[in-house]
Amino acid sequence: MRHNIFDSIPSNIVSSKDNVFANFLQTAGLYDSMKIDEDNIAYLIELLKGNVKISAYCKECKQERVFYMKPIEYYFETGPDGNEEIRCASLGEKIESLQNMIFSTKSRQEKSPAEEWKWINWQIADTTRLMKLEYICSMDEKHHLDYIVLTTDNSMMKIGQYPSIADMTFPELDAYKHVISKEDRKELGTAIGLFANGVGAGSYVYLRRILERLVYKAKEAAADVIDNEMFEQARVAEKIKMLEGYLPDILVKNTTIYGILSKGIHELSEEECRKYFPVVKECIYQILGMWESERRKQADEDALSKALSSISSSIK
Ligand SMILES: [Zn+2]
Repeated sequence: MRHNIFDSIPSNIVSSKDNVFANFLQTAGLYDSMKIDEDNIAYLIELLKGNVKISAYCKECKQERVFYMKPIEYYFETGPDGNEEIRCASLGEKIESLQNMIFSTKSRQEKSPAEEWKWINWQIADTTRLMKLEYICSMDEKHHLDYIVLTTDNSMMKIGQYPSIADMTFPELDAYKHVISKEDRKELGTAIGLFANGVGAGSYVYLRRILERLVYKAKEAAADVIDNEMFEQARVAEKIKMLEGYLPDILVKNTTIYGILSKGIHELSEEECRKYFPVVKECIYQILGMWESERRKQADEDALSKALSSISSSIK
């Protein structure tokens, strides 16, 4: 299901639609990072506890499945000498109790001078530095989707994922095979592959080029409705505005997209390119999705009129 592309990230989180960390795992390219702060720590705790299910393509099942995560555990020693007993506890719960007892605004204010907010303390720093988040397919526990994250101070960087973003995204493209040109399909694959490997500007250049070609294709459909000269001179964002009725409404009516697209590629930083990539990719999917549904509607109508004409000739 695709909803608002400007939710910035596809909303396919099953049990917790708005979990920012689950979204990050699913959509960020390698070496992208996000801040851990007081406002989002609750989401991270839920994720580490294994309470956030995600919906993703399973390479083994060859279709979209619900995945659940193995809660992360950590080990600690008890006893005065530190070696009496080794016990295991839930990392999510440990972070939750640290937040409630030490790092909450209230607890910090009680101390003087107020301590800086942190998401962990030294006790678990070793466990949280490098974490593997193991998602398991709900149809078969041998089907995995693994993420590796590195945390430094108050930020989290995605440094590993298997199957790769490219492996998981290519099957999505099959849905549009009737309406995408060979050239666009190939370059979209290249763009996704580059993005999956942490290449920002390189992947974004391909994506912009594909979007521009799709916009020109829509212009062909609009034919003489739009002034050619004005169209040629306009920037891509303006071109989209002119093509109202020929491109999905969500693109034409949303001003955020103009902000993103009106920046030339040379004006963008590597990080901005990586940030905009999922949104621009979604724009491309929206256009292809619109054309695919029009194509299907036409095919259904053709089939119906063929069936009707064969009946009409037999009841004469
Ligand atoms: Zn599976």
